[in-house]
Amino acid sequence: MTTHQKLYEGKAKIIYATEDPEIFLADFKDDATAFNAQKRGTIQGKGSINCTISSKLFQQLAAHGIKNHYIDSPAPNQMRVRAVKIVPLEVVVRNIAAGSLCKQTGIPQGTMLENPLVEFYYKDDNLGDPLLTRDRLRLLKLATEEQVESLINLALQVNNFLQDFWKKCGITLVDFKLEFGLDSQQQLLLADEISPDTCRLWDINESDPNQRIMDKDRFRRDLGKVEDAYQAVLQRVLQVLT
Ligand code: 5GP
Repeated sequence: MTTHQKLYEGKAKIIYATEDPEIFLADFKDDATAFNAQKRGTIQGKGSINCTISSKLFQQLAAHGIKNHYIDSPAPNQMRVRAVKIVPLEVVVRNIAAGSLCKQTGIPQGTMLENPLVEFYYKDDNLGDPLLTRDRLRLLKLATEEQVESLINLALQVNNFLQDFWKKCGITLVDFKLEFGLDSQQQLLLADEISPDTCRLWDINESDPNQRIMDKDRFRRDLGKVEDAYQAVLQRVLQVLT
């Protein structure tokens, strides 16, 4: 298909306009960054792996009533999506304590949380994606009260679905980040991607705290076998869906 101008280039994806103003083309890159792009590298095959995993998950989520931007995937590393304006919020859901939650609260890594924690971060690289309070969300007018309630409900629904799905893959869903967008009808759609770049995924059958990691933490923490882990996640997803 003919692509038009580049609309946006992020750390992991390039978004292109298409001949239809209601449709964008997302091109997934092999580039990897961490710690607000202070660490940079390449994960061979990541673009295709993340695009394929995200495409499968978005299709499953749509079948479970969760509206999202996915249309189809014309190539392994490309996704046609509904044109949305991204809400500048990162919605993080946590089931087990890890990452910044441990750093900021002292809760030991691996602690099971009684209830899923839903958090909002301001999607702004210059500010380092800070954690937002409800009052700061209001102050910045990043979303209406009604949209915030919808985002929390949608994030928890996605968590319910994903926890079950990853369990079938032999994977524990520790936490993940979602992004949402508004379409031309101002309808909230789940957007961006759901992949080992955006989820913490632990192998259920592995107890070693480093060996069990199947996600971007392998890159962030220089644990090695990054490509193998991403590939293994993809294979498990494909197996569960056949
Ligand atoms: P944390 O706040 O512990 O660093 O991240 C929580 C979860 O959200 C992790 O699964 C992490 O991968 C995801 N996450 C948070 N911020 C970002 C981000 O800017 N980019 C990506 N790819 N994932 C993020």
